[in-house]
Amino acid sequence: MRFAERMSLLGTETAFEVLVKARALEAKGRDVVHLEIGEPDFDTPRHIIEAGKEALDGGYTHYGPSAGLPELRAAIAQDISRSRHLRVTPEQVVVTPGAKPIMFYVILALAQAGDEVIYPNPGFPIYESVIRFVGATPVPIPLREERDFSLDVDELRRLVTPRTRLIIINTPQNPTGGVLPPQDLQAIAEIAVQHGIPVLADEIYSRMIYEGDFHSITAYDGMQELAIILDGFSKTYAMTGWRLGYGVMPEALAIHVARLMTNSNSCTASFVQRAGLAALSGPQGPVTDMMAEFQHRRDVFVAGLNTIPGMRCAMPRGAFYAFPNVSAISRSSQELADYLLQEGGVASLAGRDFGEYGEGYIRFSYANSLANLNKALERIADCVAKLGHK
Ligand code: PLP
Repeated sequence: MRFAERMSLLGTETAFEVLVKARALEAKGRDVVHLEIGEPDFDTPRHIIEAGKEALDGGYTHYGPSAGLPELRAAIAQDISRSRHLRVTPEQVVVTPGAKPIMFYVILALAQAGDEVIYPNPGFPIYESVIRFVGATPVPIPLREERDFSLDVDELRRLVTPRTRLIIINTPQNPTGGVLPPQDLQAIAEIAVQHGIPVLADEIYSRMIYEGDFHSITAYDGMQELAIILDGFSKTYAMTGWRLGYGVMPEALAIHVARLMTNSNSCTASFVQRAGLAALSGPQGPVTDMMAEFQHRRDVFVAGLNTIPGMRCAMPRGAFYAFPNVSAISRSSQELADYLLQEGGVASLAGRDFGEYGEGYIRFSYANSLANLNKALERIADCVAKLGHK
């Protein structure tokens, strides 16, 4: 079989590969603490599960419109209008199986060979992968620890060229746990408006913020015509396996994105969308409770990491990832992540898996029980002690 050349350009998300390696060790009887995969360890709230079951019994087992069920698009438009203080119409909403397809479709719709796309680095690895896949050039904007993992707006300004077709931002961030401050969002918006460049705002962790309010780039002048919000149900409502996400974008782009849905998925599963409706319209207590638990785990886990000689971890402000600096340990981030798994039974991801500016860091997802996080801390400390550090 001969594969199309573009297949060599496609990257991956190593979390899924590390999960397979960790499961293989478990199959041999080893105990592994899973801090690699980015998903809440909580079950989907009961009322959402019931709504999904009712929808199955009620006949939501057929094809639906490619852009999503009208009632869900309307509920999302209302929710986004409220949370982002905007006026969003249902026509601007496209529902997809998980939020990831929004990334894929938006990049596919806006960038082609010869174009440049600016994306955060370290960042979600799928941005760079898809930018390359469509033949465009990925232009990384570094996120540095000394800036609390925000980007340098002057550096961003210098990276913009007449070929820049899209700027991708993510707040709160995977893998750093950083949050872009409002003044930076405003400056990014000004650059985007000045050059007429669309911004894909990955806001999948918008409800997972520990201090202060969530700020969206859509709040700034001129961004309504340029911003694409990516958000969804996976993280907020612990619904990763249901596959339900959405994009909110100018209507002209929504038509193209819906057509990409018609060409690939036809539609998102109808009963899953009905469960999503229950998530938005039902009680929000489970989200608040989950976040309180994550905050407690974050405090314990990050404090624990900072007691390990050779590790230094900034306090994450959002999401559920800790991203300690491990550059004092004389191993690459990949070697360290492998060692932690093989010798310590702790699954994590190398910072390098999130781009070249992620080297010198390790990503731990603290979406795990306190007992497991404490067990992991002991094992990490033992491993690092064996390896030695500067
Ligand atoms: N964006 C970021 C930054 C993520 O970390 C993830 C999932 O890990 C996604 C998007 C994709 O979310 P979904 O599972 O809804 O496709």
